[in-house]
Amino acid sequence: MAPKRLKTEQIKDLAARLDKVATNLWWTWDEEAQEVFYELSPRGWQNLFHNAVAVLHEVSDYELSVRLLNPEFAARVRHVVDGFDQYMTAKDTWGAKHAPKLLKNPVAYFTAEFGFHETLPIAAGGLGVLAGDHAKSASDLGIGFVGISLFYREGYFQQAIDHNNWQTEYYSLLNPANLPMEPVHGADGKPIRCKVRIGSADVAFTAWRVNVGRNPVYLLDTNLPENEPHHRDLTLRVYGGDTSTRIMQEILLGVGGVRLLRTLGVAPSVFHMNEGHAAFLVFELMREKLQAGKTLAEAEAATRQECIFTTHTPVEAGHDRFSADLMSYSAHCFSEQLKISQDQLMAYGRVRPKDRHEPFCMTVLALKLSRAANGVSELHGRVSRHMWHTLYSNVPVEQVPIGHITNGIHLLGWMKGPVRKFWRRKFSEEIAPGKSGSGGESTRFWKREPGRDWAQRLISPEFWHQIEDPAFVSDEELWSLRYTLRREMIEFCRRRLLLQEQRVTQRDFIIFDHLLNPDALTIGFARRFATYKRAPLIFQRIDDIIHLCRDQKRPVQFIFAGKAHPRDDDGKRFIQKIIHLSKYSDLKGHLVFVENYDIHVARQMVSGCDVWMNNPRRPLEASGTSGMKAGCHGCLNMSILDGWWREGYDGTNGFAIGEDSHPDSVEEQDRLDSKNLYDTLTKQVIPLFFDRDEHGIPHKWIKMIRRAMVTLVPQFTTDRMVKEYTENYYVPQGR
Ligand SMILES: *Cc1c(COP(=O)(O)O)cnc(C)c1O
Repeated sequence: MAPKRLKTEQIKDLAARLDKVATNLWWTWDEEAQEVFYELSPRGWQNLFHNAVAVLHEVSDYELSVRLLNPEFAARVRHVVDGFDQYMTAKDTWGAKHAPKLLKNPVAYFTAEFGFHETLPIAAGGLGVLAGDHAKSASDLGIGFVGISLFYREGYFQQAIDHNNWQTEYYSLLNPANLPMEPVHGADGKPIRCKVRIGSADVAFTAWRVNVGRNPVYLLDTNLPENEPHHRDLTLRVYGGDTSTRIMQEILLGVGGVRLLRTLGVAPSVFHMNEGHAAFLVFELMREKLQAGKTLAEAEAATRQECIFTTHTPVEAGHDRFSADLMSYSAHCFSEQLKISQDQLMAYGRVRPKDRHEPFCMTVLALKLSRAANGVSELHGRVSRHMWHTLYSNVPVEQVPIGHITNGIHLLGWMKGPVRKFWRRKFSEEIAPGKSGSGGESTRFWKREPGRDWAQRLISPEFWHQIEDPAFVSDEELWSLRYTLRREMIEFCRRRLLLQEQRVTQRDFIIFDHLLNPDALTIGFARRFATYKRAPLIFQRIDDIIHLCRDQKRPVQFIFAGKAHPRDDDGKRFIQKIIHLSKYSDLKGHLVFVENYDIHVARQMVSGCDVWMNNPRRPLEASGTSGMKAGCHGCLNMSILDGWWREGYDGTNGFAIGEDSHPDSVEEQDRLDSKNLYDTLTKQVIPLFFDRDEHGIPHKWIKMIRRAMVTLVPQFTTDRMVKEYTENYYVPQGR
């Protein structure tokens, strides 16, 4: 049945609906939507950071209408927009079943960063990516949610490595008109204007709306002509500037966020502070209650009932602390509004309220003014209870009221295209047995089977449980998938390295295919280059590692990526060391560093590598999430038993480095971990990967991949995580 050509009206309608899809981040987790945008402008898609809005701007209305005259393409577009409408109007969500009784109004989620997609680079790292994944899952589950953050018009920095192998930073200006976001309008039809008092100034801000599936995320923006230049630049860069910029950004986020919600008429059921950055919101909630006639004590108690707090790190520097001077300079309005002294205000952020030398800590404020708090893994919960015991010295440490919810990832958003297609083919085989493999690449675009939501099934635990069954998927199929993914990543790395090299040397001295070996055991490491993550740990035994990499029969190779904080010279030295080794040691060709780590690079690496290496100094990795992204692609974790891996590892589904304990001395720990890392690699990982049958298939390795898929993939998702937040935190306990 050939699809019929559309009438002009139908084409107009379709184009308008496609436009709507482009301004909803839903397309970032819908493969078919992405394929439509890709096809409209393949180079545009590639060069504009896979941005649907920019692609639609690239294609004229006339071109789009002509393209839609092609019935086959029009049918696919219709399929996408129908899918979108179905998603947006679905009634039978988890939230509809479980949450309405519990949550009448939306959850307001405040965070200093949101990492949704490479198109909108306003996250510095894992905290933001987690927030983005939280928002996506809240939408998928049908939970009322509204996100609050800032629109940093220069985002987080871009990394470029110079000829000394030193990280340099540059910023590019984001253009809201070309991004999946829209200005928020007030009742008068004009862009909304709100104000927040910072220091002695009233700083005006407006807001942008990012549609994350069914839910809005609002990004505050002070770049308005009526503001002083330094106030306009509060929303310039993620964590830009010094502590005085930081405190002003946090006042804007916390207080401004509440003001915006009030202006929009949103009355959240609960305020979720994702990390301490947003904690000033409690002062605004208290001010409102005082104004409504409550006493300070009543206002405080009522505010506490509305707030919950998630702490994300045991690293000291991760907890913002502001001096009394800075507080009285930038935040004196709080004491005025709450009619309290500056000392009383400081007390809210102090462990010892009367200690005049103690700075104001945002984490302390958040803990004091929330009804419940949590860490992001079991171990991190325990470590946090110890860390903040002094705040609750009247109870034993086990009773410090900080629980835990282990982080997760938004599975559909992270699953790479070929992997989704791979599983999708399985669904169609189920329907029509015996048709396996037919079509191959020519059926690149699949039709949604009518009446069955395969994407929903793909994220169900039941689906992943079948993977242990070789009748469902064979070792050969899984191994060939691994080859596809490894090759895609290697070719991605080669392209990126060529560009990196050309930029630095102005010539191409890398020979494309001399870099990386598609048959080698490929080990990936990519994350922020915070020093506690110890990126170069593996190279403490450099001669042994060179030996492993140059082994002809059982070759190993390494791919690294990551950004160091602009002011972290130690982190930059780690990068320099690794790049130096990649260029000037015998590791050349077996070790590469890919510049400018972001969500796109992350997606390539977690899917293409065979092993995801993580060797933080325990217990400083509160959870870690990149290793969770590896599982659905058949990439195995090799990690210290810290954060999530301590809960995920069961002896059959990946590799542990060392024991479920750590020595007190840092030096001893580094020495021990370096040894354990090397032992795990040489005694377990390499032998298993190269244990092949006569066709070269590593059956035992693949068995481990199956175990990882069964035990880890359905467990470490933000679907599970958001359900836990909803049931255990968003809903007041005991009601
Ligand atoms: C997932 C992710 C992170 C977090 O990774 P960790 O393992 O938690 O350090 C950081 N940055 C990007 C771009 C990511 O995609």
